[in-house]
Amino acid sequence: MASNTLQHLRDLVSPSEIIERDAPAYKDAAAPWSPWADQRPPLVVQPTSLDSMSKVVKFLYDSDLDFAVRNTGTGSVSAKDVILSTHGFKDFDFNESAGTLTIGSGYDWGTVDRKMEKEAPGWQVVGARCTWVGVTGSALVGGLSWLSHEYGMISDPQNLLDVQIVLRDGKVIWASEQPDLLWALRGGGGNFGTVTALKYRARQYPKTVFAAVLFFPYSALSDVSKLVSRMAARTGDPRIAMHVCNRGTAFAEAPQGAKPGVAIMMFDAHGQQHARSDDGFGWFFKHPDAVEWAGGEMGMADVNSLGDSFKHWQGENKFWASAPLLAEIDDETVNRAWKWWEDCINVHEDFQTGSVVLLEFMQEVSIPTRPTKSITADSRQAAMSSAGGRSKTAWPHSERRHVMQLGLGRKTEGAPPSIREMAMKQFAKAGPLIAGPEKDTKEYHAGFLHEWNDVREVYGENFDRLKEIKLQYDPENRFNKGVNLTDEKVTAKATV
Ligand SMILES: Cc1cc2nc3c(=O)[nH]c(=O)nc-3n(C[C@H](O)[C@H](O)[C@H](O)COP(=O)(O)OP(=O)(O)OC[C@H]3O[C@@H](n4cnc5c(N)ncnc54)[C@H](O)[C@@H]3O)c2cc1C
Repeated sequence: MASNTLQHLRDLVSPSEIIERDAPAYKDAAAPWSPWADQRPPLVVQPTSLDSMSKVVKFLYDSDLDFAVRNTGTGSVSAKDVILSTHGFKDFDFNESAGTLTIGSGYDWGTVDRKMEKEAPGWQVVGARCTWVGVTGSALVGGLSWLSHEYGMISDPQNLLDVQIVLRDGKVIWASEQPDLLWALRGGGGNFGTVTALKYRARQYPKTVFAAVLFFPYSALSDVSKLVSRMAARTGDPRIAMHVCNRGTAFAEAPQGAKPGVAIMMFDAHGQQHARSDDGFGWFFKHPDAVEWAGGEMGMADVNSLGDSFKHWQGENKFWASAPLLAEIDDETVNRAWKWWEDCINVHEDFQTGSVVLLEFMQEVSIPTRPTKSITADSRQAAMSSAGGRSKTAWPHSERRHVMQLGLGRKTEGAPPSIREMAMKQFAKAGPLIAGPEKDTKEYHAGFLHEWNDVREVYGENFDRLKEIKLQYDPENRFNKGVNLTDEKVTAKATV
């Protein structure tokens, strides 16, 4: 890296748009979620106008600097030389008559949720369930929301309406002018330019919903596994959703060893009464060992804040994640997932301090078994069948899949050098192990990929088209973090 190249970059923008490595603002602007990925580049550039962003993108593209475009860093993106931060892009424009929300690409979803409650009460956009996740990265990898069961994935055409992007030559366009590009941005990983704004569909939605966490001891694991399986068979109601997660440090509790308890995180937009009935989660509430941890009717911003207990891992934990997709949930699925966890703790005891096994249960692709007034014809779709076919978005999804979110990590201090290798080995065997004999889909969510994932397989029949578009918009492969379509691989140190 030539230091005079960095100096040219400094000279291109105003001093207030530069954050040097020794500045107090550097950590917030540059740190990736997992410290393992941190390359501590000397410079963060944070343009605050489109004009400035255009100049910077063109300069970086034509230079030999290694750079990464960053929204929140949750995807653990980093680079050797420069972080190009989008935090200067914070426009917020809710258009009630059009039912749209246009936002700058520098937001996290938690801030958007709070602003929606204030400026657009009774409206929601399909955004991430975790407050710290970025509005841009989550759309680029096909993100998921509590509302996904009803309206589809964050990146789906009915949700992500348009994207403003600065191309490699500094030109600013709305991607809808070039439909192939918009298609590629919907789950294709983002390496086509620098996104500066996103236009989302806003929907009228109840101001409060019911959300709660129910804790079960490890001794109830087999019962819970069966209850989850029955829930998966029974419900087609897109206004309820559920996660099944291990207890322990993810909930800011003490580590629970190789045999942790179970937490059921539930969401019911029909409200408390419905949630506590057998049409909702009554079967779980009735279990004699169930203990309610945090429950009640609340706005979406508070629902999404329930996950904030995970936040203490950010920047502290060497952490990686992988998300194999399951086609079915049977009576043993949760038991098998807990076996995988036990195996991980036996491999490395310290994983219990910074890891998670979380089953994201997805709805049946069907009309709800008990239609209600609030479920309209166009909302009768499940997240995985929501785009209208596998070719409609870059990341193909059209059949019911449950997302098995697996995270392995531990405190950075004292971590053995082989910790990442151990985590990758555990991830690579998780899919077939948890899916059960001969039920492995070999599919992975595009948001949590690693070098051992086959990128061609992840994007399936869409891969060749996606790569062609990539070569058109980035012929020199200068946008190469995360999913590197040109080289058909995932870049290490740029994915969580
Ligand atoms: C603990 C945890 C919880 C999560 N929970 C959720 C969840 O509830 N729902 C969900 O959908 N996902 C969730 N995710 C996954 C998350 O969506 C992805 O990690 C996503 O990539 C994060 O995007 P970001 O913008 O926040 O992160 P970043 O690391 O800033 O960016 C991620 C990727 O997007 C690219 N990118 C970012 N901004 C731009 C831009 N302006 N232009 C071009 N490219 C850009 C980056 O270069 C990088 O490759 C979670 C991840 C973690 C670690």
